[in-house]
Amino acid sequence: VNVFFRPIEKINAVIETYPKGIAGFQRYTQFLATEPDIADCPGAIELVRPRGEIRYAQVSFGYRNGRRVLDYIDFHIEPGETVAFVGPSGAGKTTICSLLPRFYEPSEGTISIDGTDIRAVTLRSLRANIGIVQQDVFLFAGTIRDNILYGRLEASDDEVRHAARRARLDTMIADLPDGYDTVIGERGVKLSGGQKQRLAIARIFLKNPPILILDEATSALDTETERAIQASLAELSEGRATLVIAHRLTTITKANRIFVVDGGRIVENGSHEMLVSNQNSAFYRLAKATD
Ligand code: ATP
Repeated sequence: VNVFFRPIEKINAVIETYPKGIAGFQRYTQFLATEPDIADCPGAIELVRPRGEIRYAQVSFGYRNGRRVLDYIDFHIEPGETVAFVGPSGAGKTTICSLLPRFYEPSEGTISIDGTDIRAVTLRSLRANIGIVQQDVFLFAGTIRDNILYGRLEASDDEVRHAARRARLDTMIADLPDGYDTVIGERGVKLSGGQKQRLAIARIFLKNPPILILDEATSALDTETERAIQASLAELSEGRATLVIAHRLTTITKANRIFVVDGGRIVENGSHEMLVSNQNSAFYRLAKATD
């Protein structure tokens, strides 16, 4: 079966958010590995509630001491639009997305949000406007409430409940001995993979950023859980500019546009329909190769 047309089989959402006040959490995955020299520029301004129009203009990048990994990347995403990056392993999909929260700095070119160069805004305000769903869910020992609050520390109880409902976590919480006060983690109640992912999704609903990066799942969940998570993610991406890193090529039919990445370049872009109907497209070859 061609993976491009197969229903979602596996999704493993991991969500990272960047609340102020919690230090040290940002080291825990490779994706978050930041360059120590990335800091606010003098006179950096606050990025206040952007619409989420994203533009990469002639962006090139190489990891420290490495070869060039991105080669003049150019694209534009409308507010609320969902785009998916597909391509062979190592093509540069993750790297493209990791430049947006400034985990790394392009060596050439400019990335802007609503026309403002992301280097001109504070890192904190930039990251406050971007939600990231990653491969591993980060939970800390504490209550369910605190773990959801990690999405936006100053949120009210009502807001936490609302976010949990939208992430379809509320019935599970209601079944726990102490509800929202139930302690999870090593010494507390253990959550299943699907529950962790829902919790991560609840964090992002609470954070409510206009921009979302979904690092597509690779690990297994049962089909029913996957469908539910998928539905939550679809709802989460509604009205947000969403960049899907499609490692497994499963979520992309929902994307407004697909960018085919190869060797650090965007070699093709278009709707799923358009790319799949063209037998000469790189996308078509990729689909064949992953049959
Ligand atoms: P996959 O689908 O396998 O995740 P990808 O398209 O997301 O691949 P990237 O992870 O962006 O690809 O990797 C692009 C290139 O950059 C690869 O050659 C990879 O080995 C290299 N690379 C990725 N992360 C780092 C890093 N932290 N340091 C050095 N090189 C890296």
